[in-house]
Amino acid sequence: MSTYKIEVGENRSASTCHCCGRKSSMGHGFVYRNGDAHAVYYAGWSTDHSEVRVSLALAIGEWDDGSSAADRTNFGLEAREGDEEILFRVIEPEESPWSSTELLGDMLPREKALSASLLDEAFIVAEQVVRNHPAISDYLALPK
Ligand SMILES: [Zn+2]
Repeated sequence: MSTYKIEVGENRSASTCHCCGRKSSMGHGFVYRNGDAHAVYYAGWSTDHSEVRVSLALAIGEWDDGSSAADRTNFGLEAREGDEEILFRVIEPEESPWSSTELLGDMLPREKALSASLLDEAFIVAEQVVRNHPAISDYLALPK
């Protein structure tokens, strides 16, 4: 079984919401699998939204010196609070502030993401991110 470790790059910085232009927060960090760099994530959320949800961009793949965005798969996910668990859905690149960045690459369209072999792992990693990134876990009111 793989062990994941989250390293927070920036816990929370003030931003402007991609979807509505209201005040929002942004954070990012790194994911290690069994000690190796495995993913980079960006997260955005707004306390001004009526519903609690976090937009995530999660690029999984190679991060060594010779690698580029072509060696990574960029998933767009949205996390929200369910009754007993965190619910995730795959979003379209147009819904994300990180649809295409030099670091993360081009975000997969939803239909492609749903059939991607890495999707199951993306959900596992995303759950680790929202539970272990302090500002996100506070926002989602997750138990410590
Ligand atoms: Zn918004």
